[in-house]
Formats: sequence, C-alpha cells, structure tokens
Amino acid sequence: MKAPVPVAAPGTLQQASDPCNLCGSGEVRVLAQRDRHGDPLQTVMCTGCGLVRCDPMPDPAALDDYYRERYRIDYKQQVAPSRRHILRAGRVALDRLARLPRLAPIADRAGRALDIGAGGGEFAYLLGRTRGLAVTGIEPNEGYASHARRVLGLDLMVSPLHEARPAEGAFDLVTMFHVLEHLRDPEAALARVAAWLAPGGIAVVEVPNVEATCQAPGHLFHAAHLYNFNAASLERLALKVGLEPVACWHSSDFGNVSLTLRRAAGAALPVPPPSLPMAMPSNAARVWRVRSGHVSWRHHATLQPLARALRRIGSRVGESLTLRQLPADPRAMLDRVCDRWIAAGSAAGG
Ligand SMILES: [Zn+2]
Repeated sequence: MKAPVPVAAPGTLQQASDPCNLCGSGEVRVLAQRDRHGDPLQTVMCTGCGLVRCDPMPDPAALDDYYRERYRIDYKQQVAPSRRHILRAGRVALDRLARLPRLAPIADRAGRALDIGAGGGEFAYLLGRTRGLAVTGIEPNEGYASHARRVLGLDLMVSPLHEARPAEGAFDLVTMFHVLEHLRDPEAALARVAAWLAPGGIAVVEVPNVEATCQAPGHLFHAAHLYNFNAASLERLALKVGLEPVACWHSSDFGNVSLTLRRAAGAALPVPPPSLPMAMPSNAARVWRVRSGHVSWRHHATLQPLARALRRIGSRVGESLTLRQLPADPRAMLDRVCDRWIAAGSAAGG
C-alpha cells in the first residue's frame, strides 16, 4: 500500500502511471506527497477532469488481501466490531436511513436491496428492519462479515466487489457508502452496480468530498482512498456507465458528497448518453483552486479544529454513558437504539 519516495512538489505537472479512470487523460497535477499519517503517498489530480487519485495504484492482489484481512485492523484496530463501534455504526446507519427518503424514492418499492461494503452489517440490518426490504450485503473482510452473519443473521457475500456475483437486475435499491474511493476501478464498480439494479432501480453512493475543508489539509488523503471525488466527477462517472443522477448533496460539514442514481426503466443494460464529454477542465481548475487554497495556517486560524476536537470528546463521553444503558448483545443493542430512534420520530426522515 506504500507509494514510492516523493519526487515532485505539489503543483507539478507530470504524466501518471495509468490513464484517468474517468476521462482517460494521462496528465496530472501533484496535490500531495504524504498521507494523513505522514507516510509517503503521492496524490494527483487529473488535469482533464479533476478526478483525484493516488499514483501509482497499489497492486490488485495485494489490495484484495489487504481488505480481506488487514483493513479493519489498520483502520479500527480490531478484527470484529466492538460495542462502541456497533453503537457508532448503528447511529450512522440510522442517520443514513433518515436521509434515504430524500436520497432514494424507495418508499413504494418494497423489494430487494444490496448493501455494498456492509462492514459489521449495521446499515443492512437496520435497512431490513425499518423498511421491510430483503437485504443482501457484500463485505470483503472476513472478521466483520462473519460477525454480521452470526450476530445479525444477515445474508452476506464475503468477497471483494469485483469478484461478487449477485443476480443481475435483482435489486430495487443498491447502497454503497464510503466504498467507491477504496476501489482500483470505480468505473467498473459502478457498471456492476448498474447491472445489479432492476430496471427503474435506485443506487445511493456516498464518498468523501475532495473539496472538504473541515479537516486539516494534511488529513485529507488516506492510503486506502485510491480515489477522491467531488460532486462533478462522481456524477460524470455515473453518467459514463449509463446511470442517471437524480439528486446530489453534501453533508453539513461538506465532508461527504452523496448521489442518488437511477437505472432507466427499460430492460436493456444502461448505456452512456451519446457524445457525453468526459473531459471537464473547469472542474479540474475548481478542484485545484480549492485544494491549493486550503492551507494549514489558514485552517488552524479558524475555530474548526477546536470545534471538531470538542465534538469528538463530547461524543465519546456520550457514547460511554449510552453504552452502559444498552444491552450487551449487539443485536439487542441495535434494536434498542433503533426503537428509540423510531420513538423520537426520526424515522420520518427529512
Ligand atoms: Zn480525468
């Protein structure tokens, strides 16, 4: 997962190791040479369209091994989710569910759903419980997947996305929260999503926003995030595989961008609109302007870092108190949190 030793300063124009996944251009501008931990990671922006990626990409087989065995340990320091993780993931899942009426008009489509990158299964479980959908999941990590199957009783495929073989055209809803940025070929991944959707089906995709300024500049790039999107590059990639963007918005801190996509009603697999241009030089200029303008001293001169740190402390204390009141069993715990959420009226969405 390590990139080579830094060779070019931020702002340098150079040729990338591979063509851009979106527009095919090879020219890139260097954005950074370090990841959020200070380790070497060259992150570049395509000058043709503004899609940001790490360069070179990691070896595909090493990447599959990493997600099967190591990723959750590196990222969460655990092989199966802890109670705190389950509570946190459950709350994030409920927040996503509350947004689903806006994200995806699925209320009249009681059918089958597929959650890609299901993790410990919290979202898939709560989606099934609150919406009456039959939910299948895909998760590459064996420890988390076995937890989701054993504890939550989920129907889960343990597989990297590119090896998963769910039935084509079978799902009314496909959700993919914070997955696409981890994949070596996001175009192929979205094309699979399009093929797995039923005609007229809806996909919801959420990724970190490369235009985010809520974190310190050095904290944006992560070795596991092979791609970094903004709304324009994500929308264009969806159009490239024939999916129609129907809604797009950002989280309140501008840190995430979410997209609702629809597969056309006809039985044929979606195709991109003819003559759709993939080059978006104005988007590249925009991404460069945002990233080069977000400098460390300016970020730390705002109250954002302090507010973020205080929020984190407050939320950790609140979680500890809540955990004491919740059942020890993970499934019973999720059920309790979900019941409180429904009783509070949050299930109505907004
Ligand atoms: Zn490009």
